[in-house]
Amino acid sequence: MTDPLANSYYAATAHKWRSAFRMGEDLSFDVAVIGGGFTGLSAALACAERGFSVILIEREHIGFGASGRNGGQLIPGLRWTASELETEFGRERADTLFDLCWRDNRVKARIARHGIDCNLKAGHLEAAWTPKDFDAMRREAEYLAARFDYQSEVVGKGDMTAHVATPLYHGGIHDPQGGHFHPLNYAIGLAQAAEAAGVSILEGQRAHKITENPRGPGVITDRAHIGARYVIDATDSWIGHVEPDLGRYTVPIMNYNIATEPLKNADALLPSDTAVADSRFVLNYFRLSADKRLIFGGGERYSQTPPRDIAAFVRPFMMQVFPQIADAKIDYGWGGAVAVTMNRLPHIGRRGNVFFAHGFSGHGALVTTLAGELIAEAMAGTAERFDIFANLPSRPFPGGPWLRRPLATLGLLWYALRDRLG
Ligand SMILES: Cc1cc2nc3c(=O)[nH]c(=O)nc-3n(C[C@H](O)[C@H](O)[C@H](O)COP(=O)(O)OP(=O)(O)OC[C@H]3O[C@@H](n4cnc5c(N)ncnc54)[C@H](O)[C@@H]3O)c2cc1C
Repeated sequence: MTDPLANSYYAATAHKWRSAFRMGEDLSFDVAVIGGGFTGLSAALACAERGFSVILIEREHIGFGASGRNGGQLIPGLRWTASELETEFGRERADTLFDLCWRDNRVKARIARHGIDCNLKAGHLEAAWTPKDFDAMRREAEYLAARFDYQSEVVGKGDMTAHVATPLYHGGIHDPQGGHFHPLNYAIGLAQAAEAAGVSILEGQRAHKITENPRGPGVITDRAHIGARYVIDATDSWIGHVEPDLGRYTVPIMNYNIATEPLKNADALLPSDTAVADSRFVLNYFRLSADKRLIFGGGERYSQTPPRDIAAFVRPFMMQVFPQIADAKIDYGWGGAVAVTMNRLPHIGRRGNVFFAHGFSGHGALVTTLAGELIAEAMAGTAERFDIFANLPSRPFPGGPWLRRPLATLGLLWYALRDRLG
């Protein structure tokens, strides 16, 4: 498939890697994973570590989807705050969700364990777009400190320039446990670790259908029927193509990134080298690459057609934050689909021998690695932690195949309008 969105900084700076697997006669495995993003790779690796024989099927190449083109921002937690989780689900479930999603950084653990070279850096700043946003952030930081002994820095408006050279924000929370990385090189590192653990990685082949066979479900791909006792569907934005019913739970929202040329004044823009995301509904998020480019994400489109000129589409958002680099050359512009659920919590579960995890709603760089590991844990017989996620509420979008996206779009446009009205 030619990808009009592939002009990414990440693709240009990716480590060279090709899967060693060549299709032979025996295509029977314990586990078939569909999708070579963070979720599928993490699940495949964790399953192999538990002794399962595993094949991973990716229709393009490792990291082709959101995992290889995201903002690279590692933001602890979920799209809901910890206090919202506690209010909704009670103390005990909130404790487990907190331990899993905030405290236990599985990405850092994988990077350390496998020596993955992906420019990992510490520090994430949530920047307040309005004074009201800042008040809410400060209250949440105080709650996290008091309830979980989770320490972050409350940054007043006057101190924001220690992190970001713009007067635009009304304060923020700097979380040293967050960070940023080169997402495609992380995906490639996971693939190398998975292959070393025995996973067969089949790139360039699309899974069309999950089927029943005498041994249990299997997967029909372009060229083969692959037998497997368990299937893991990790196709995120494309999940409806493989499992139409699961497709009802997310809508794909297009989001775009640019990378400037390497900047002489890069360190002055982001003095603490933190990643930044602001509190608008259609947020701006940015960080520096290892070679001192500004990687900036901003603007969403509710149509699936990309803008003709991505750099021209994103540049005004960048200029609003950093007018001092208005003339910077933009070397790369790319985009991808963010799979969003109705309530912005991921949809994770199991139907018979088919496991799935999708809909991380723009907050998947950290939690997808965890999700993959929890699937492996459940498959091996300990489902307690997996069930905490599987029991999160989930609802399909209303409207059926034709109306689902337009209806969801109307809702999203309403929130985007509220951003503009301030
Ligand atoms: C532009 C953008 C910016 C983002 N920024 C951030 C960020 O800064 N921080 C953050 O936390 N999150 C961010 N996200 C979200 C995050 O990237 C995702 O939540 C996460 O990568 C999802 O990983 P995944 O493995 O579930 O899905 P994907 O990475 O999308 O992987 C799915 C894979 O399945 C493959 N596939 C699909 N159908 C088939 C099939 N039929 N057969 C075989 N293979 C198939 C695809 O080719 C793809 O490689 C961003 C997303 C986008 C698009």
